[in-house]
Amino acid sequence: SIPLGFFGGIGAASSSGVLVKGSNYLEALSKSEIMVFDKTGTLTKGVFKVEEVNNEDGVDADELIETTAYAEAFSNHPIALSVKERYGKDIDNNRVGDVKELAGFGVKAIVDEKEVLVGKYALMRENNIDASEADSIGTVLYVSKDGKFLGSLVLRDEIKEDSKEALKSLKEAGIRKTVMLTGDKKEIGEYVGKELGLDEVYTELLPIDKVNKVKELMDKKSENGKLVFVGDGLNDAPVLTMADIGIAMGGLGSDAAIEASDIVIMTDEPSKIMTGYKISKKTLSIVK
Ligand code: ADP
Ligand code: MG
Repeated sequence: SIPLGFFGGIGAASSSGVLVKGSNYLEALSKSEIMVFDKTGTLTKGVFKVEEVNNEDGVDADELIETTAYAEAFSNHPIALSVKERYGKDIDNNRVGDVKELAGFGVKAIVDEKEVLVGKYALMRENNIDASEADSIGTVLYVSKDGKFLGSLVLRDEIKEDSKEALKSLKEAGIRKTVMLTGDKKEIGEYVGKELGLDEVYTELLPIDKVNKVKELMDKKSENGKLVFVGDGLNDAPVLTMADIGIAMGGLGSDAAIEASDIVIMTDEPSKIMTGYKISKKTLSIVK
């Protein structure tokens, strides 16, 4: 049977906006040793703004934005949402055919019966698109239509207000190692890692690389230590499931994330991880 103290702990957590799906997760959380964070939507706001529009000669800037928004029509990725926000008009779904979301890369979609690619530089390279690489600071979306490079959009995201303090307090409370994984560029990942004082940062990871990295980190735990993964569930549902404890940001996060996770942070604030951790420690000290 479950000791009563656990119900108190789960209740206290839930009134703070931390939904714990079972007493076993509260117990596991109290033994957290390594905490691994996704970047976008987890430590950063995941609300990008289109800061630069670099249309190629002979391409209209509005056409570049419209084409990108249409290719992203069915994507819920924070990047896609920001492009649609910038476009600002309704999307006529009849103009969009087959769409393939390429996790960690971008999207491939049929727009007006033409193939559109939107995503990382590597996506252009792999499809033999002659794209000029932008050296701007930010997440760059390269766009092609019918094999022709249209230009790029540069997007920027911001670090959440409480990320730094949350990570600092978790370390002080005894978490041995904090790690950030991201599919984003090296320059951006390393900048965020430094700003936040993370112990380790791994960048340019595809979803499968994130799985392998978490596996590797699982092997580095001590006998009783637990590994926590915190993400928003977009491209990281597999690692949420694999970790001892998967924590999802429930506000921005997808239903898949909430489904795949053991604990849900309703307000998306990293500081709530510390709230949950403290409650878990306290609950265990009462129950044991
Ligand atoms: P993170 O690891 O920071 O959460 P993701 O793995 O979701 O990031 O995405 C990694 C990179 O893949 C993004 O920085 C972007 O370059 C590209 N990407 C992912 N999804 C999309 C999309 N829907 N449209 C365009 N680019 C995308
Ligand atoms: Mg993500």
